[in-house]
Amino acid sequence: MNKNPFGDVTERLDKDRYETDIEESHIKVNQEAAAKSNAVDLLIRICPAHVYSKQPDGSINVMYAACLECGTCLAAAPVGVLSWQYPRSGMGIIFRES
Ligand code: SF4
Repeated sequence: MNKNPFGDVTERLDKDRYETDIEESHIKVNQEAAAKSNAVDLLIRICPAHVYSKQPDGSINVMYAACLECGTCLAAAPVGVLSWQYPRSGMGIIFRES
């Protein structure tokens, strides 16, 4: 039985589609600024789509194709760590409700 009156979030997200921009990431990380501010763990914790991960050398990997475009990382990251913009026209997530 589903207790959430708005439905299961995972099932709802499954309806969405992505148009991945294979030529350009809409998220860029200043690795030096990220390392100085210890932003890696913060980004990993706050992103609902698990876009960020830590590489063996401690730098941040960005799986931008999975981004939900919620803007949380841009709001939470220390100044200078992220360069974030919406994907180019026609790219990124396309939300669907039916
Ligand atoms: S905009 Fe949202 S989904 Fe996209 S990388 Fe940032 S926190 Fe994750």
